[in-house]
Amino acid sequence: MFDTILIANRGEIACRVMRSAQAMGVRCVAVHSDVDAGAMHVQMADAAVSLGGAAPAESYLRGDAIIAAAKTTGAQAIHPGYGFLSENPDFVDAVEAAGLVFIGPSADAIRKMGLKDAAKRLMQDAGVPIVPGYLGDDQDPGHLEVEAHRVGYPLLIKAVAGGGGKGMRLVERPEDFVNALERAKAEARTAFGNDAVLIEKFIEQPRHIEVQVFGDGQTAVHLFERDCSLQRRHQKVIEEAPAPGMTPEMRAAMGAAAVRAAEAIGYKGAGTVEFIVDGSDGLRPEGFWFMEMNTRLQVEHPVTEAITGVDLVEWQLLVASGAPLPLTQDQLSITGHAFEARLYAEDVPAGFLPATGTLSHLQFPQGARADSGVRTGDTISPHYDPMIAKLICHGPSRAVALRQLERALAETQVAGTVTNLGFLGALARHEGFGRGEVDTGLIARDINALTALGPVPAATVAQAALVALGLDDAPGWDSGFALWQPLSWTVELREGDETWPCRVTVIGPEEARIQVNDTEVTATWQDGWRFDGMPGQACHRAGGTITVFGHQTVTFHLPDPLDRATGTTDGGNLIEAPMPGKLVALHVKAGQAVSAGDRLAVLEAMKMEHSLAAGRDGVVAEVLVAEGGQVEAGAALIRLEEEPA
Ligand code: ADP
Repeated sequence: MFDTILIANRGEIACRVMRSAQAMGVRCVAVHSDVDAGAMHVQMADAAVSLGGAAPAESYLRGDAIIAAAKTTGAQAIHPGYGFLSENPDFVDAVEAAGLVFIGPSADAIRKMGLKDAAKRLMQDAGVPIVPGYLGDDQDPGHLEVEAHRVGYPLLIKAVAGGGGKGMRLVERPEDFVNALERAKAEARTAFGNDAVLIEKFIEQPRHIEVQVFGDGQTAVHLFERDCSLQRRHQKVIEEAPAPGMTPEMRAAMGAAAVRAAEAIGYKGAGTVEFIVDGSDGLRPEGFWFMEMNTRLQVEHPVTEAITGVDLVEWQLLVASGAPLPLTQDQLSITGHAFEARLYAEDVPAGFLPATGTLSHLQFPQGARADSGVRTGDTISPHYDPMIAKLICHGPSRAVALRQLERALAETQVAGTVTNLGFLGALARHEGFGRGEVDTGLIARDINALTALGPVPAATVAQAALVALGLDDAPGWDSGFALWQPLSWTVELREGDETWPCRVTVIGPEEARIQVNDTEVTATWQDGWRFDGMPGQACHRAGGTITVFGHQTVTFHLPDPLDRATGTTDGGNLIEAPMPGKLVALHVKAGQAVSAGDRLAVLEAMKMEHSLAAGRDGVVAEVLVAEGGQVEAGAALIRLEEEPA
């Protein structure tokens, strides 16, 4: 076994690899960009090397610098994670030329799977089913059109060098073929500098089912399938293992095909063979076709780990260091069912736009595996993938695991950025998904229902109002708050474009009534607030931002009291307290000249400090409250001299 390895990656996958490696007693070296100097993967590592700027080209893609870092830190092997350099055969060659071990397949195996047409021809020769179509070198448009007729419509035109759906065109009618071919070729030329295409029968109601394989360079085993059909624009959203509706015959056929694929290229390490499956008529052993092979660890590998009990990273290190495959095919079996949901910082209502932000609070639920590379206080920056975590649940049956996932999503607390938590929760509750009726079009068909935001419950607003007033802990109005008779406060909360004026009235020692628009919510204290009898949600406050978690995370903002403080009364002469609180600092005295915007005093209220500024230039006429004094809302604090006419 290696003594030290370098992990050429960041975020959750770097942390994931380190967890297993360190548990095996292997020292881990992290590499990082400037902006990642304080990142979780750097903190976890036994040593760290800085690579350069934030852009991947200046850091995580600098193969030479990474190899040099491995040499100077005494690492014997490099784990690439996924993305970045993980499927770059030139990097593999360079790693090996430097006398280091690449934890993954050979450069040759990666190259063989690099181009879609060559990979498919290779697989066809190895007896792996491929989608009926045309894979030839003759790219003459007339010839391609003849081949298209032979394949039949609807069909797909794909760039042989394609990736990420680029250079791909669906053609439904023969009369559209010539035009679609021109567009696909133009796109492929721009994106990949290679305009060769292939033609494939279009599978209607397709499912994406992939098989995890593991090879030692000669022989391979498979660790069963994952269903990744729940996709949005070809991006996986929730993955599961095993695949719903899978039969023993089809599993055996797919597993055998995947092992043939891996052995055909002398595969070493963890890999994934992706198949497209015709889901229109149940799963049939003759209804699956090879799509591509990913020659690395996949994002969704944890669901396979959950159902097999295998630690795939541990296997990667063992096999890379020369050990045999730890288990034979007969020794591998499936226990229960697992789901993984990808939690992203993204603005779902704005069309799933990647979001950024500093995580003022981040907490994962008990009872679920959370693979993450960020902690409270970390920033989701625009430089990298906005993934916050992967949540993985494993239960004895699909129904139980899905309920666990739903619960884990509702109990995940993220404040400081918008996330797709609500969307993931809606998916977990989707009836068709619950019945296992998955295909790659499910999300698109039901996108409106899945992204619809329910009305904000009055109880949620009421809870935020108590938090805003600093009353979320045990009721304290029988002591300190008695100062502010009568026991009633108002507070205005903003949520998106909506404003929620709230009035909180004390009814008894452990009871309050909260008026939210036309609705009245009763709050009672029982070791925590209950709202109309229901327990409150977990929530978090950061300055003037209050986040209430649950099925739907709701973020409220307190209007900035400065807006009102500078909007002074009495023709701009009087500075008043915008809310009840304590005058913790006084910066001026009578006779002092001040300029517009100068800080005159600081009021502590609602657990925050608020600066009170002068609304105009002038001279302080009198100070009406002593430092340290308690004041009521609207109390006059400082008066400026009349402006000369
Ligand atoms: P890329 O490499 O550009 O991502 P893929 O060949 O992996 O392209 O295909 C991307 C997605 O397009 C697949 O996950 C699947 O949802 C869909 N797809 C691919 N081939 C077919 C096909 N023959 N019929 C129907 N859908 C397909």
